[in-house]
Amino acid sequence: MNNQLLVSLTEKYGSPLYVYDAEKIISQYNRLTSAFSAVKSLKLNYAVKANSNVSILKLFKKLNSGIDTVSFQEVKLGLEAGFSPENIIFTPNGVSLKEIEQVANLGVQINIDNLSVLEQFGQHYPAIPVCVRINPHVMAGGNSKISVGHIDSKFGISVYQVPHIKRVVENTGMHINGIHMHTGSDILDIDAFLRATEILFDTANEFKNLDFIDFGSGFKVPYKEGDISTNIEELGEKLTKRFNLFCKNYGKELTLMFEPGKFLVSEAGNFLVNVNVVKQTTSTVFASVDSGFNHLIRPMMYDSYHHIHNVSNPTGKERYYSVVGYICETDTFGSNRRISEIKEGDVLCFNNAGAYCFSMASNYNSRYKPAEVLFYNGNDYLIRKQETFDDLLKNQVVIDLD
Ligand SMILES: *Cc1c(COP(=O)(O)O)cnc(C)c1O
Repeated sequence: MNNQLLVSLTEKYGSPLYVYDAEKIISQYNRLTSAFSAVKSLKLNYAVKANSNVSILKLFKKLNSGIDTVSFQEVKLGLEAGFSPENIIFTPNGVSLKEIEQVANLGVQINIDNLSVLEQFGQHYPAIPVCVRINPHVMAGGNSKISVGHIDSKFGISVYQVPHIKRVVENTGMHINGIHMHTGSDILDIDAFLRATEILFDTANEFKNLDFIDFGSGFKVPYKEGDISTNIEELGEKLTKRFNLFCKNYGKELTLMFEPGKFLVSEAGNFLVNVNVVKQTTSTVFASVDSGFNHLIRPMMYDSYHHIHNVSNPTGKERYYSVVGYICETDTFGSNRRISEIKEGDVLCFNNAGAYCFSMASNYNSRYKPAEVLFYNGNDYLIRKQETFDDLLKNQVVIDLD
């Protein structure tokens, strides 16, 4: 999407504004499916928590994707978008048995990540097939220190507890139809990732009637120039070979699943803000924008880097800026950034704003959550209105203190 178009969208819909480019989402989806085209049965489940706008979910439905959900509410958003329960997987962590029951009753595939709930669920619903989330505890050697599931991570059932899972299965008569891992780590070292998959294959061999193996996510996308990203094509080639061999030995064509969030939507997103104030101090030049960590918290929460550029003046001479928000906290989006000269009123654009940006937004400082626009087939569609003052009051019960 070019700079002029982005500026015109802020004029049309106001600022701050999230704009998502459907074309980029589609190309990322296609890139992943073509890297695994030699797998007979491949299923991608888009991780809803990255961006849960229902129109985005509908785009994934159109692409034939499934969805990966972590809460009952995300499941309901998926149903709202038209997904059938069979195309939804529920992979929560630390939720109550009650919530798992609610979701299972809708016909959604559930994925259980602890022995306590597995045992209780198996006793109550032995007929409902369940996937188990395994923590493979693989640490890459050498200097890379890429961890794919720490021994002390809260996620998954330890691979050392597989005998216990099997005992629960025997005692309850339940059916394990899938094995899952999601390490949360970035897959930069494909060999380290493949070592973790070996552990998952070993675990899968312990269960005789599986339908699928779910390798989670961790696909890394570039946030800045020079960032390394997952070599999807290399991963596709190596894992496909290994997976097909596994299926042959296992004696059944299983479905290979992934559940990417960031990979599919991060780069499609642009967050547009207006510059309210340009302030020179003794040490820097601040550009204060009409947003803050209420709208985009990743830089403050995870030290994430989001590239910032001036779409109003893309070719001006470059200067160094600290780009900060309007929240009464230190909300620095980026310090010492080289950006083409900023004037008050200019529109700045944050890249990689499609994943974990709007979905983490809040009303802190009693600000409205911004509007969202989907750019699809050459047209812009408003897919969420900016909030209004009524939204801030909606659930407040204002009592009379006379
Ligand atoms: C968050 C999450 C994902 C998506 O991770 P990305 O890094 O955004 O690809 C996948 N699976 C599970 C279980 C998750 O919790």
